[in-house]
Amino acid sequence: MRLLILGGTGDATELLAKASLLPQLQIMTSLAGRTQHPVVPAGAVRIGGFGGVEGLVTYLQQHQIDLLIDATHPFAAQISHHAAAAAAACGIPHLILSRPAWQPVPGDRWLDVERIEAAATILPDRAKRVFLTTGRQQLAAFAHLESLWFLMRMIDPPLSGTAVPPGELLFDRGPFSLQDELTLMTHYGIDTVVSKNSGGEATYAKIRAARELGLPVVMVRRPMLPAAEVAPDIPAAMAWLTRHIHP
Ligand code: NAP
Repeated sequence: MRLLILGGTGDATELLAKASLLPQLQIMTSLAGRTQHPVVPAGAVRIGGFGGVEGLVTYLQQHQIDLLIDATHPFAAQISHHAAAAAAACGIPHLILSRPAWQPVPGDRWLDVERIEAAATILPDRAKRVFLTTGRQQLAAFAHLESLWFLMRMIDPPLSGTAVPPGELLFDRGPFSLQDELTLMTHYGIDTVVSKNSGGEATYAKIRAARELGLPVVMVRRPMLPAAEVAPDIPAAMAWLTRHIHP
């Protein structure tokens, strides 16, 4: 059977490693091609958009894909909606692998916001030096906040022409350790963290560090997932695969 994994996350890479042990599967991973030096998973990989729902339907049909697992980032909402629609159109089983969102624990000072733009709206009243961890695609939403200073962490530099807020750019890729996050935030005198609620361990250290330092976190809620079967972790995704390989 042919499995297409929509990737771009550590979870997708981990799933691929486990699913590759199932001899009945031929697996293709798809990446969007956003990062300059992606962590390319082992095995067959294709890179680049499909061209909307229609393009994905064509791809699924041409490559005779039997199973589709969407293991993209929880904030990559567009591809997830496209995948759900395309799988339905082709009548193939479709699973979303989505790790649970982080939940606040005692000591956390979270300000939940619906969208990135709302984070930018509330910052001027409560922050001076912000650790902005929402990635290069979201910088422009903060560019008008000239009275604030931002430490902006991302994997690749912003595309030319992107409006960038005042501050310093830091290029790095997780996972990050608690000690490194504490050192970074203290060194730069950070008073507020802005984060997407990505879930998972790889980038959770900044949330722990904010808790230890008593700092508020402006936490951007996840976009809605399409209606679909959802696995919260790799074992659940593997169980789904096994069910569909041996119905
Ligand atoms: P998005 O807004 O949901 O998708 C925009 C377009 O990019 C899609 O319509 C699709 O183009 C293409 N695309 C996205 N993921 C793809 C994939 N795995 N394979 C082929 N095409 C893909 O996505 P995004 O937020 O820009 O994220 C892009 C990629 O980065 C995703 O694969 C995601 O897993 C990864 N990522 C995103 C974030 C984040 O915070 N958004 C964080 C970490 C990693 P077509 O319509 O042409 O098919």
